[in-house]
Amino acid sequence: MRCFSCHRLSFKTFCDECHKELFTPALSTRQIGSLDVISFFSYKNIEKYILSKFDSSGYRIYKYFAKMHIKPFLESFEEGLENRCYLISVDENVTRGYSHTAVLSHYSATSKIIALHTVLNSQNRVEYAGKSLNFRISNPRDFKYSGPSDIDAILIDDIITTGLTLQEAYTTLKQSNVNVLYALTVANAAL
Ligand SMILES: [Zn+2]
Repeated sequence: MRCFSCHRLSFKTFCDECHKELFTPALSTRQIGSLDVISFFSYKNIEKYILSKFDSSGYRIYKYFAKMHIKPFLESFEEGLENRCYLISVDENVTRGYSHTAVLSHYSATSKIIALHTVLNSQNRVEYAGKSLNFRISNPRDFKYSGPSDIDAILIDDIITTGLTLQEAYTTLKQSNVNVLYALTVANAAL
């Protein structure tokens, strides 16, 4: 197969050179209400890879982000964990044959941090990409949580833009007695 970025022959999703050039993470943290959101990359540096979720190449790309960056992060976090904890991804609606957020949580899971699939889904399927803050505020995701309560969890999503989606997800989980430790996103698109 070929490197997704430079198209040279490569056995990996990205060849070693592109991996080094494009994917040295630059962690950042944003506070959304009382929720800390940790992101691995600045959106502008990895935009075309984030947008791969709109076609079939996204499966490989998101698997790569999970295995190369998120899982190692969680493995070092779990060393200090006494109890098991759950990974809840935001909205696992399958749109193009797979759910990119489900790919993220599946391949990021560790022995103590377990992925809970399709437990937090929006009932409002409106697309936010390119929409204004006002549009987003007046069209909330309206999340429904169907997983267990009285657990510790980490929220996971591909991108944080305004933070509204994560905030809404966090509120929904809190109402179900889920203790959210923090949220992780691949990209931070802070304006
Ligand atoms: Zn390459």
